[in-house]
Amino acid sequence: MKYNRCGQSGLLLPAISLGLWHNFGGVDVFENGRTIIRHAFDRGITHFDLANNYGPPPGSAEENFGMILKKDFPGFLRDHIVISTKAGYTMWDGPYGDWGSRKYLLSSLDQSLKRMQLDYVDIFYSHRPDPATPVEETMMALHHAVQQGKALYVGLSNYSPEQTAQAAAILKQLGTPCLIHQPKYSMLVREPEKGLLDVLGNNGIGCIPFSPLAQGMLSSRYLNGIPQDSRAAKAHGFLKAGELTEQRLTQIRKLNEVAGRRGQTLSEMAIAWLLRTPAVTSVLIGVSSVPQLDDNLAALKKLDFSEEELNAIDAVAPVS
Ligand code: NDP
Repeated sequence: MKYNRCGQSGLLLPAISLGLWHNFGGVDVFENGRTIIRHAFDRGITHFDLANNYGPPPGSAEENFGMILKKDFPGFLRDHIVISTKAGYTMWDGPYGDWGSRKYLLSSLDQSLKRMQLDYVDIFYSHRPDPATPVEETMMALHHAVQQGKALYVGLSNYSPEQTAQAAAILKQLGTPCLIHQPKYSMLVREPEKGLLDVLGNNGIGCIPFSPLAQGMLSSRYLNGIPQDSRAAKAHGFLKAGELTEQRLTQIRKLNEVAGRRGQTLSEMAIAWLLRTPAVTSVLIGVSSVPQLDDNLAALKKLDFSEEELNAIDAVAPVS
């Protein structure tokens, strides 16, 4: 594994990190998730990303992860891994289980720690900006989590370039610098290239793109239809079959041809393409099996791109 410095912090993160959004919840097979996490760690993946609402049902991914930690990462092994969680999307009913208030963020973090049976997480994120709460309040809640010793670092997710700059300035003033930003970023979603990556670079903040395979579309998964066990076929999957339009499939097939010319699978190329950017610290993948994980890790064998390859990708999947 290659480890990259996260922004201007002291923390190194693996070039590839593993997220537990899908495939690790109460509806999934526990032993499958456990095998993936053990294998990931054995291959040098030291960073696992969660959120309060991952499941389904919400909270169950944290509960399962807590059980795996207890079984497989006892004692000092906790010091070998970086665990993140988040609050910001709907978690419980009523006015205090959503968005960005201090009330929600701090009580949610307590609940997350209980579910994972942990004393602290390494990174606590504001999962999304809240237009109705002063950004100062949300940032002070993150800062307070660090002061309480319940988080070592803080991060932002889904904040625009302007919101990120404002939040980072507040955090800096509070003495808890923003460690990392988690944006949706892939060859199919190039929004972060329109200002966010510059803000992160200028502020010494790391970047960990989520859904780097566009939930599986940037892999061989859907090249020949929708497999029964795929995310797009599952009722609770966030990828909807309707997103696999003929136009999208044509684009995916063309990208697959570029990957083939590079001697890579499409998922390898999708990950390498993100990692070639110096602003990107780590790529946050999801997997439903160990072979998928190994396929994705093979991306690290070839990270460089020729001008011609980058142009071919831009032609098929431009910044919109
Ligand atoms: P990806 O884009 O990597 O998609 C993962 C899915 O792609 C897998 O579940 C699998 O689908 C398929 N896949 C992965 N590797 C392969 C392969 N080699 N060959 C074929 N198919 C493959 O990421 P996710 O969308 O899962 O997001 C990753 C993480 O990012 C999440 O777990 C979460 O931690 C974070 N995230 C954060 C968000 C935020 O708002 N901050 C929002 C969303 C995600 P299948 O199940 O069909 O096998």
